Amino acid sequence: MSDDTLLDRALTRLDEAASHLKIDADVIEKLKYPRETTKMRLMIRMDDGSRKSFLAWRCRYDDTRGPTKGGIRFHPDSSIEEVETLAFWMTFKCAVMNLPYGGGKGAVRVDPRTLSKSELERLSRAYMQAFARVVGPDRDIPAPDVYTNAMIMGWMADEYSQIVGQLSPAVITGKPIALGGSLGRNDATARGGYYLVRHLATELGLGAGMRIAIQGFGNAGQYYAQLAGADGHKVVAVSDSAGAIHRADGLDVTRLIAGKAAGRQVSELAAELGAEVIGAEALIGVDCDLLVPAALEDMITVDNAPSIKAKVLLELANGPVTPDADKLLEARGVTVLPDILANAGGVTVSYFEWVQNRQGFYWDVEEIHARLLRIMEREGRAVWDIAKDRNTTMRTAAYVHALSRLATAIEAHGTQPFFTS
Ligand code: GLU
Repeated sequence: MSDDTLLDRALTRLDEAASHLKIDADVIEKLKYPRETTKMRLMIRMDDGSRKSFLAWRCRYDDTRGPTKGGIRFHPDSSIEEVETLAFWMTFKCAVMNLPYGGGKGAVRVDPRTLSKSELERLSRAYMQAFARVVGPDRDIPAPDVYTNAMIMGWMADEYSQIVGQLSPAVITGKPIALGGSLGRNDATARGGYYLVRHLATELGLGAGMRIAIQGFGNAGQYYAQLAGADGHKVVAVSDSAGAIHRADGLDVTRLIAGKAAGRQVSELAAELGAEVIGAEALIGVDCDLLVPAALEDMITVDNAPSIKAKVLLELANGPVTPDADKLLEARGVTVLPDILANAGGVTVSYFEWVQNRQGFYWDVEEIHARLLRIMEREGRAVWDIAKDRNTTMRTAAYVHALSRLATAIEAHGTQPFFTS
């Protein structure tokens, strides 16, 4: 891989999309840099009485289309560069879905698995204490991401409400239902991807009983396995951070999820599921129809992309395929359903949660699913049509779709031709 940073590489997709549109240079200038990134050091008291500090960030990349929106991740490898790139992706993701949001992201550099539950609560509350001035229901609205969940969002919402002196659930989404969360938020990322694949199945050449390999078995991976499995598709391989397993006849998804819930790794479940343990890299090359990267960024590179046998990739993770690998997959005729569309179900139901918090009236789960389905199919179809019309990949089409919305909003403030004519 080159010395380019993650953000440099992400920006190549902006350039590529811009080459398909007549966009004013002002627009690109505005979208090339993160608008505001705050770095803080969080200090918490550990259970043994010692004090420990953790680096934390919140980036508001661009807020032209609305308050910035995006998750907070707790991960030992988090960095400012990763946060800014993820916030860039959120900017485009919200625009693809036509949500009235800009893009943001946050992170704490920590391995949450090394913390006790009370340390985790103190860290979550410390994050909100540090960033209360940055976030807000009309400014920047966090949500869950890698290794953060509803309970953490609940602590943060509570902390923010204490700081501002009034109940303020709309400051954060992905909360527990009892604290103003939305029905249907838990499985929304996977469900959005599932609706998208179902809607475009014929065009993608996918049919009944397709074989699926899932890289990463967290929230998105598990729910996707469940939804696709219930439709009669076969999950033939899954991996988590500790290893991967494969069973050509399909894995028992219910037992797999129960095993994970009991705190076991997928490789520890291989024997009882009649599966073989394979290497994490081998999962990418498993014989299947649909490969679902649902872990972290930069997982599919020029080194392992040639081994892919799937016809279609569904990016439930953010940024799992490097731009170089993208080119290789395009040349090989593999269709990539890009992250900013494929995993946008999560932020879409976050938007529904924020709307419900503000209107004080809560929808039933059927309403949430119907609304998610409508948006997913509408924007998925629009991206598909752009890809066909312009003969581009789905990724470029999604960026073109998002960029034209962002450009319209940026240009509405006036650009160079307006001020100099
Ligand atoms: N972290 C999720 C994402 O990357 C969800 C963001 C949100 O709900 O605001 O899309």
